[in-house]
This record gives sequence, structure tokens and C-alpha cells, in this order.
Amino acid sequence: MRYVSTRGGAEPRDFEGVLLAGLAEDGGLFVPETWPELSAAEWRALRGLDYPALAARLIARFTGPALPEAELLPLCQAAYAGFAHPAVVPLVQLGPHLFVQELFHGPTLAFKDLALQLVGRLFEASLAKRGGEIAIVGATSGDTGSAAIAACAGRARIRIAILHPDGRTSEVQRRQMTTVLAPNVTNIAVAGSFDDCQDLVKAMFADTPFREAVHLAAVNSINWARIAAQIPYYAAAALALGAPDREIVFAVPTGNFGNVLAAWAARRMGLPVTRLIVGSNQNDILARFLAANDMSRRAVVPSLSPSMDIQVSSNFERLLFELLDRDPRATAAAMQQFRAAGQMPVPDAAWRRATALFAGHAVDDAATLAEIRRVEASSGYLVDPHTAVGMAAARALSPQGIQTVVAATAHPAKFPDAIEAAVGRRPPLPSHLADLYDRDEHYVRLPAELGRIEAVVRSASLRNAA
Ligand SMILES: *Cc1c(COP(=O)(O)O)cnc(C)c1O
Repeated sequence: MRYVSTRGGAEPRDFEGVLLAGLAEDGGLFVPETWPELSAAEWRALRGLDYPALAARLIARFTGPALPEAELLPLCQAAYAGFAHPAVVPLVQLGPHLFVQELFHGPTLAFKDLALQLVGRLFEASLAKRGGEIAIVGATSGDTGSAAIAACAGRARIRIAILHPDGRTSEVQRRQMTTVLAPNVTNIAVAGSFDDCQDLVKAMFADTPFREAVHLAAVNSINWARIAAQIPYYAAAALALGAPDREIVFAVPTGNFGNVLAAWAARRMGLPVTRLIVGSNQNDILARFLAANDMSRRAVVPSLSPSMDIQVSSNFERLLFELLDRDPRATAAAMQQFRAAGQMPVPDAAWRRATALFAGHAVDDAATLAEIRRVEASSGYLVDPHTAVGMAAARALSPQGIQTVVAATAHPAKFPDAIEAAVGRRPPLPSHLADLYDRDEHYVRLPAELGRIEAVVRSASLRNAA
């Protein structure tokens, strides 16, 4: 299996190459050269596999002979062994045709654990084979940083430094990062915004001597391995509900477009997914695009679903490439224009192809709270604010009579303030995190100055290498 860049200007790589590279050197995103497809009989044969076995079987279609299913299976088993539910990604039925799939039973209570718990182990396995070590650096507004730290803490040949905006993450989110006691983890609280953190990370990658000295690597959501690791739970839901012999609709609360792209990939592999519903908060660029081909960038507005406070959904480029018949030049031109003018020109035919499958719905904060309340009142089930956006979108757009699965992307206890505002009580943390507020925190506070931050990352990497 080989991977090509959506912009056509990078050497094709194998799975390990794209795992370690993250972004392609032409600024594009890696995609499979051809999509693996399973026949209906092959899908039926997967029914009844446990989750790690299903994941290994499907991800092996993307790794190829370099990392065969037999090697993937123990990595998947280890990655999901720590999940707090035996089904790993259980379905909960809330209506005759309405289900949620709980993707939040991992160590940091958000769906990002499903990909990152495996990706941390993939990095480790690959470095053990080829030798060397890496320093992972990332910026986070909350969920990604804690999931990446949980995935990399204590792993051989990997060091990780995560920058978060000082005082601007929720306390649960900060504590999930800063209470991890592993010598290869460094938390940096930056005096600035999330954008400042992101700019600092970009600047570290652009600083070639630094990048090479510490062997910088990234785990942001453009890494193909993360998408590949998100496909199996869509397959698990579809198979449990009768696929390939019954149709299914997914509703996904969306920010960077990585999660819903994995649902698209599951369909591309042959599952009968008849609609993909994209839920947005008031940062509604995707909903505007799907409604009226208006992909124009606006200022980011903070919302109750902070992990979706995004105006440039980086993984959309992978869908755009497909909508443009895999034409890398047209993709690169559209992305460049989006960057320069804040408006993406999508040809009408391509937009129509998108809307034949995708539908978008934007949900503001008031409607998010109302949805949390409504679901709780009608079924006693608590959804977090991100899941509430997906649920409201599903109610608005899901076709009658077809079973619809809403991706429950975070545990409600991760966002206690919003839950309290909606239903008047704070949900308790699950037992494995019950003492989170009593654990010691470890982080350094730094000004948003590249030199100071590079010095800390550098000395952390030397300390841990020694
Ligand atoms: C990251 C995140 C999202 C958005 O997922 P994308 O793949 O970026 O679209 C939604 N909900 C939660 C809880 C998240 O952490």
C-alpha cells in the first residue's frame, strides 16, 4: 500500500513513511493511492470479531506487508485493553432508529484516544525496527494534548512536549495533561492563546537545525495513521446494526473533519452508509459549505464545544481531493486560494457530489444546552456538548426509518460546566479518574518566545535520552 500527497508534489511513501512524516513536504496530506474495498461476503465474515481483532483486520488493509495483521493485532489489543468498557466502542439505543456510539471510554475520555493509543504504539514499534528516537511536539486547546500524552507516556524512544495556552483550557483538560508522571513528558503552559501555541509549534518545525537535532515529529490530526485507526469503530457500529445488508447513517460532531472523514473512508471501503451528517457549532464553515457552497473563513468564536472551535478543517483537503477526481493540481490551487483569500472555490459539480452524501447542520450554544436537556429528559442519558451538537444535527437531518448512529465524542464529565448549565448537576468523573483533582501537577510556564521554548524541549529531550 502506497500513499500519495493530495497536492502531487511529494514522493509516494509506505504506511510507515506517512506515519513518521505526518504532513507531506509539498504541504499536502497523504492519502492511499487506491482505496481497499471489501465485498459484502468479506464484511459479513467480520461480524463477531472483538474490537481489537476487527481493528487489526481493517487497519492491515492500510499498512500492507510492512506491518501485517499478525503484528498489528497485539498492538491493537494493548491499545484498547485500558478502555473502561468491554466493547471498547459500545452502542446505546435511544430511539427506534437512533443510537449513540460511545467513543469516550479511553484514558482521557474523548474519541481521540481510539486513534492515539494505537498511534503511540505504532511509533514505538516502528522506531524499535529502524532505530533512532523522536520528539513529538504539539499544541493543544485541550483534548488532543491529553490524548497524545496518555498515548506516549513511558514509551521507549519517544519524548513528547505539549504546549497549551496558560489558563485557557478547562481544569479537567489541564489536569489530564499535567498529572501524568512520566520522564518523557513535558508540559508547557504558554502565556498566550491557542493560536500562539500553534504558531510556536509551526516555528519549531520550520527551524531546520532544531528540527533535525531533536528529531521532531507530530501527532496532529492530519497524520494518516490517525484516520486509519478511526475507521474500525464505524465498521463495528455498521456490522452490529446489520451491515452490509442494512443501510446506516452517521452523525458526527465535527471540527477538523478527521472523524467524519474516517466514516467516509468506511463507506469507500464498501459499507452501505447512505448519509453523513456533519454537526458544527457556531463555527459553521462546513455547514455553510454544504448548504450553499460557501467555504469562507470567519473569525473563530469560542463555544461550549471547544474541540470544534475551528474555521479551517484541515482534513477536508482529503475529501476535496476525492471530489476533484483526485486531481492534485486542482486541489493545490483550491487550497492556495483558500489560504490567500479565505474563500475556497469548489466547482459546482464537486459541491453537488459532496451534498449527495454529506449534510451539515450548525448548532449554537443555546441549542446545544437545550439538546443536552432534551436528551436527558427524554431518555435519562447525558451527552457532552460536542455529542449534543451531533445529536441535534441528527434530529434535523436524519432520514426517516434508517438507523442513525451519533458519534459520542467525549464523556460528559469532561465538560462539567456546560452539563451543569444544562441540567443543574455536575456529572462525576469515571472511577479511573476520580482522584484527578488531588493529583500533583507538573508543568513549566513560559512566555510565547520561540528560543525559550526550544531550550526547554531540547533539554527535556537530552535529559530523557541520557
Ligand atoms: C476533536 C474533537 C472533535 C472534532 O473531531 P474532528 O476529527 O476534529 O472533526 C469533536 N468532539 C470532541 C470531543 C473532540 O475532542
